[in-house]
Amino acid sequence: LATRLQGIAPTIFSEMSALAVRTGSVNLGQGFPDEDGPPAVIAEAVRALEHGANQYAPGPGVPALRHAVARHQQRHYGIEVDPDRQVVVTTGCTEAVASALLGLVDPGDEVVVLEPYYDSYVAMIQMAGGVRRPVTLRAPDFRLDVDELRAAVTPRTRFVLLNTPHNPTGTVLTRTELQAVADLAVEHDLVVITDEVYEHLTYDVEHVPIATLPGMAERTLTLSSAGKSYSFTGWKVGWATGPAELVAAVLAAKQWLTFTSGSPLQPAVAVALDEEPDFPARLCASLRERRDLLLDGLHAAGLAAYVPQGTYFATASVRELGWADGMAFCRALPERAGVVAIPSQVFYDDQADGAGGRDLVRFAFCKARGVLDEGVARLGKAD
Ligand code: GLN
Repeated sequence: LATRLQGIAPTIFSEMSALAVRTGSVNLGQGFPDEDGPPAVIAEAVRALEHGANQYAPGPGVPALRHAVARHQQRHYGIEVDPDRQVVVTTGCTEAVASALLGLVDPGDEVVVLEPYYDSYVAMIQMAGGVRRPVTLRAPDFRLDVDELRAAVTPRTRFVLLNTPHNPTGTVLTRTELQAVADLAVEHDLVVITDEVYEHLTYDVEHVPIATLPGMAERTLTLSSAGKSYSFTGWKVGWATGPAELVAAVLAAKQWLTFTSGSPLQPAVAVALDEEPDFPARLCASLRERRDLLLDGLHAAGLAAYVPQGTYFATASVRELGWADGMAFCRALPERAGVVAIPSQVFYDDQADGAGGRDLVRFAFCKARGVLDEGVARLGKAD
């Protein structure tokens, strides 16, 4: 195995979804919905398949989708981007993250990243030769500590990798927190890379794209996808938007990764963005009910979960059930209860006893009601 991949554990999502299939458990682990996105969008993909959208799409993405992404940024946030120079379509947001880091980070560059972090961030910072500088969001509120953020910046820092709404904690960064990041970015001339895939899934709080703060549009690369907003996680259609030179760097790396992908899916996602602009809000309303159902169920099972403001995940400490180690808990849970969840400790640098996330477990609530009902009922009966 190449040095660049050493010390990086296999992704937890593969392990836990395989465990769910093997044990017939209710999968409250990997974040994918049980219900697909809008039928009209699927019909559009079928039409595209049948009508010749089966060869390579242009490297930066089909024009229809780049234009639709630009309109989406304008409609929701008042952000103006040129669809030809400031939008690139990627193979899911995961490839947008990978391309951004490979396209921008030089060996030794430091990247400030929120901890707990989505696992691909760490893998890709390392593959790019960068150095991660985690800033920990701590229970119960998982707020950003601005002093810790400032302390994480050194003369070698060049990037802040944000994620809001935040996976796995469900925190949504406030305008004040984002302003602190923005101030720091301007002061130290940092580029902000922000993963906003859960942008439409917030409960009672506003999602603020950091690119909308004064002075930030010119130093922010914003990443998102159709996976979470439109319940097409398997389509792997994502995008990066921002200043032309940052988007060009994403494309410079991306052309050597997948070159291009999803030719028939890209026009369908354009239709989703343009013609189903209200789908994400409806999905969010339905997720909110399911969030509360999961929180009640976890509570009844003796687990007091932290209330997420966004995403489709809720985090609980398993200490109240007498467990110190969330990994041990999650590995035993399929046998004990027929449920799979994600141990949040894999999203922390320090996994020692008493450290950050050792006792935390993430449960997904983007599942059909019946599945969630069954999952929480099983949790309640766990011995
Ligand atoms: N983003 C989803 C999650 O956090 C799925 C991740 C994956 O399977 N790589 O659960």
